[in-house]
Amino acid sequence: MHLYLHIPFCRKACHYCDFHFSTNLSQKELLVKAMVAELERQKDYLADKHLSTIYFGGGTPSLLSEEELDTLMNAISARFSVSGSAEITLEANPDDLSPAALSNFSRTGINRLSIGIQTFDDEMLGYLNRTHTGEGAMEAVKRAQDSGIGNISLDLIYALPAPDHERLKSDIGKIISLDAAHLSAYCLTIEPDTAFGRWVQSRKMLPVDEEFAAAQFEITTTELSAAGYEQYEISNFARDGHYSRHNTAYWQRKPYLGIGPGAHSYNGSSRQFNVSNNNKYIKDLTSGISPATVEILTSDDQVNEYLLTGLRTKWGCSLDMLDQLSEGVFRETHRSTVKELVARGWLQMIENTLLLTPSGKLFADRVASDLFIG
Ligand code: SF4
Repeated sequence: MHLYLHIPFCRKACHYCDFHFSTNLSQKELLVKAMVAELERQKDYLADKHLSTIYFGGGTPSLLSEEELDTLMNAISARFSVSGSAEITLEANPDDLSPAALSNFSRTGINRLSIGIQTFDDEMLGYLNRTHTGEGAMEAVKRAQDSGIGNISLDLIYALPAPDHERLKSDIGKIISLDAAHLSAYCLTIEPDTAFGRWVQSRKMLPVDEEFAAAQFEITTTELSAAGYEQYEISNFARDGHYSRHNTAYWQRKPYLGIGPGAHSYNGSSRQFNVSNNNKYIKDLTSGISPATVEILTSDDQVNEYLLTGLRTKWGCSLDMLDQLSEGVFRETHRSTVKELVARGWLQMIENTLLLTPSGKLFADRVASDLFIG
């Protein structure tokens, strides 16, 4: 099984971010205690007790103190068996990666770091409200690599405001020179409840147009592919098969348990969503109440979720699985839509599997929604 832990704290609010986090770090200790209580409550959520991946996401998990990380790791290993080959990832901001922090991560069993770079351009980092510099990020990645945590993933954002292909090419060049095993490259999306969302609303900031974003996606995929990175999911690139095993489990509809405010879980037939509020989460768990809302998935939900995530991957969506999830109706009802999407050059069918074409990757959500049922 797969375990996700959401650490909902950040030093500063990045101007584009709509994840659940708080900049009030004083609650960290109480929240870790509540997470341990939730681990105990949820230890039987899935029948399988054998963890093959653990993922500390956020927020900024690299803000956890040595003691807090130990508390969580001990609570996990007291309730689950952690495979010796488990992938254990921690998301980190570059400015938290001191030699002492790195050796602590290594000691606790973290064997994969996902480092939030976003760009190396200092002016843009300031505009995004990031806490680090480009040079600081380069040095942090090298320190992480020297520390022996060899499985490093870097996050990059393209289609940033103040559109500039040269900045993106320079960012990608630096990423390639760092020789990271994995890269996640995300197109900036402007969410309403963020500083950028409000700036666009008040016309203080202009959003990047779709054509420019598509050109940046093309630059990103072409340059990374030339450097030996395989695009195994629309936003994820790996060298030598260093796929994120944890995220691949989500895309392949494997069951997982999510712990922490805002985290969600999936058991094969329902999802549950934890409250995205640190105070309420702590209060619920302290009072012995579940912080989660449960949603039973219909067969339509299962098919549509599989299309949304599966089509984005190099494994695509199996027609047999779509038929199984839809109780036999998918192939029958979608024959002509599949034909149309193939004729448009967005979809291909190889050995009973639906896969996006390179141009279809630009319209992944649209293709998935054309194939939705219900
Ligand atoms: S550090 Fe990450 S989670 Fe925190 S505000 Fe920035 S982007 Fe969001």
